[in-house]
Amino acid sequence: MLQQTQVETVKGYFERWMAKFPTVKDLAQADIEEVNKTWAGLGYYQRARRLSECAKIIVSDHKSQIPSELEELLKLPGIGPYTAGAIGSIAFNRPYELVDGNVTRVLSRILAISGDVRSPNTVKKLWGAAKELLAKERAGDFNQAYMDLGSMICTPNSPKCTSCPFGGESHEPICKAYLESKVTLEAIDIENISSLFIKKEESEECNICTSKEFEVSSSCTFLVTRYPYKSPAKAPRVQESVVLVIKTKLPGSDIFSYLLLQRPKQGLLAGLWMFPTHDFPEQIVPKGKDKSKPSQASENEPKDHPKGIQHIFESLAALSFSLDSKLLDQVKSCGSVLHIFSHIRQTYHVYTLTLPSISSYALDDGILRWCSDLSSQPIPTAYQKVFKVATSKK
Ligand code: SF4
Repeated sequence: MLQQTQVETVKGYFERWMAKFPTVKDLAQADIEEVNKTWAGLGYYQRARRLSECAKIIVSDHKSQIPSELEELLKLPGIGPYTAGAIGSIAFNRPYELVDGNVTRVLSRILAISGDVRSPNTVKKLWGAAKELLAKERAGDFNQAYMDLGSMICTPNSPKCTSCPFGGESHEPICKAYLESKVTLEAIDIENISSLFIKKEESEECNICTSKEFEVSSSCTFLVTRYPYKSPAKAPRVQESVVLVIKTKLPGSDIFSYLLLQRPKQGLLAGLWMFPTHDFPEQIVPKGKDKSKPSQASENEPKDHPKGIQHIFESLAALSFSLDSKLLDQVKSCGSVLHIFSHIRQTYHVYTLTLPSISSYALDDGILRWCSDLSSQPIPTAYQKVFKVATSKK
């Protein structure tokens, strides 16, 4: 739950999750829809699905006991080397190493590993180093200590080298990055080192320097933070979609119900419920484009949106939910919403259609449903944002 998510955000989800699935057996017996509903809003839904699959295997193949052996842990869905190492060492005190973001930073600095941490060779080297340095008799404590050191002392931008057990003033330091920085600083005239750097506000726009300001002092900080080196991430994919929020008052009801469609069982947001959507072909983010705003297209109402809406009508007809083509004229635009998935910059162009309350609008297909209380459904955050736009009064 904590991957890419802050503790404060996770707390409520964790409590609800544990109240609903207090044991592995409870989770194994739960229907995936129930699991998704409890997870809804936390993102990365694949993790919820894998937890559910994992629980089923633990119950069927391991007598409801989480295995402690690395080989067995690695066979479980969603458990990679880091999680297997963490469960084995912390829960069972097995002699397994682990490497996460914090350990990567600490090891890269202690050993002055300058390779790109995105490269498989560097990753292999870091895992090898973690194995070699592991205190096998207290592997759980040792791994946690590494991770804590990385989160509290050897932080990304302000490492506290003088308070660190690997650096420090009162004993012989062993951290190579720290030693390198001391040698470099001694070689340069400390008093005049500031003159080597121009403060950002005094400099002209530069394409070479990072936007990070140097903190020039006699500290080693700006030298040790060269480690670890991480090459720039690939540009995210850009996905543009039109979404049609269809609503009506079903017979005997005074409140609106909304048409929901279940997403495919595989891929992004698998198995969750959404409003009918048409995705346009993907693009790559143009260089220098502001990634924080919906795409330019959203502000200009591109001419192919009606084609997308038409496509949604056809897709619904294929699911035995036919809408009169005259209703196309009643489709209204409500604006756009941007949602950032880890590797996709998604813009939804939101449209609404209100159907007259004259028929039952029966649904034959199991992947379509009417819903008046959206909070009771496993609807991903992206579509909750869409709903807000569709129902906001302008
Ligand atoms: S001495 Fe500095 S760079 Fe080295 S591990 Fe400690 S905090 Fe990190």
